Amino acid sequence: MNKISEIFREFAPEYLNRFGASMPKTHRKTIGAILSCRTQAHGLLYYECEACGKIHAFYRSCGNRHCPACQNHKARQWMAHQIKRQLPGHHFMVTFTCGM
Ligand SMILES: [Zn+2]
Repeated sequence: MNKISEIFREFAPEYLNRFGASMPKTHRKTIGAILSCRTQAHGLLYYECEACGKIHAFYRSCGNRHCPACQNHKARQWMAHQIKRQLPGHHFMVTFTCGM
């Protein structure tokens, strides 16, 4: 279990009760995914350990891209890639948009 899921488990029911009807559907879906991540809701995975030869069971992850438990490694990979792309020295980013 991660910190976000602990926070959601404690406060999401009341929050959803108060604001759920006005929230975007994707937000409710994300909260539900994080709450159910690595629980029996997503089933079990079985691994046979090459070192000890035993079968180990793990709850499956939710796969939601916003879930810190199962997508954190991808976020770290993305961040490492972005850091490699940085120009040497101090810089800042400017975004221009066109109203045409
Ligand atoms: Zn997850």
